[in-house]
Amino acid sequence: MILILFGPPGAGKGTQALNLVRDFNLYKISTGDLLRDEVKKKTNLGEEIKLLIDQGKFVSDKIINNLVKQIVSNRKINSRLIFDGYPRNLEQAKELEIYLQENNQKISCVFSLEVEEKLIIKRILGRQTCSKCGRIFNKYFSPSTKENHECDSKFLIVRSDDNEKTITNRFNTYNKETLPILSFYKNQKLLHQVNGMAKIDEIYKEIRNIIDPIHT
Ligand code: AMP
Repeated sequence: MILILFGPPGAGKGTQALNLVRDFNLYKISTGDLLRDEVKKKTNLGEEIKLLIDQGKFVSDKIINNLVKQIVSNRKINSRLIFDGYPRNLEQAKELEIYLQENNQKISCVFSLEVEEKLIIKRILGRQTCSKCGRIFNKYFSPSTKENHECDSKFLIVRSDDNEKTITNRFNTYNKETLPILSFYKNQKLLHQVNGMAKIDEIYKEIRNIIDPIHT
């Protein structure tokens, strides 16, 4: 199964992707996470990437597509992929088609999590990611507690691009560059629009209702 999750920043793609990874033994490709790993290495490329991320701008298609190409050709995770944050523009979507065809793989389903901008700002300003286990929490809506999270609270980090100024840029870039891809997948009858403003469990239930009948 190959799934793609769309949605503006803070729509909950990462959270739903982790649910799907857990229940369907999928491998998550988050280009944002891959880029943040490069930033941590403090290479020249990492510095370049950080500047773009912190301004809410896209990293070049060449860098992104190369990262994705390597993963898609890995036979160990053949047809067990979930994309979070990729493709982000039409060029990337077309490039992904080529990589998948070359490796005899096909997209099963594309989800778009629909969320209003007002709610997104609240969600992003409260977002905390555990740098140890990768889980995502929100200090207002779904905080990390001793009962639901075993890692120490010192591992909770706030992303450098999760601030009010960058959010608006990221939201505008999403509307301009990424939203047009939805019609690309709609024409291929792969697109499912999901209410991303519901509770995490309810959103997941809606996604499962769509996936379960097609998952063999
Ligand atoms: P994310 O973690 O998906 O919110 O991504 C964080 C930032 O990484 C984005 O705001 C972009 O600057 C960059 N980024 C992530 N994925 C892509 C992509 N597919 N194309 C271009 N830039 C990306």
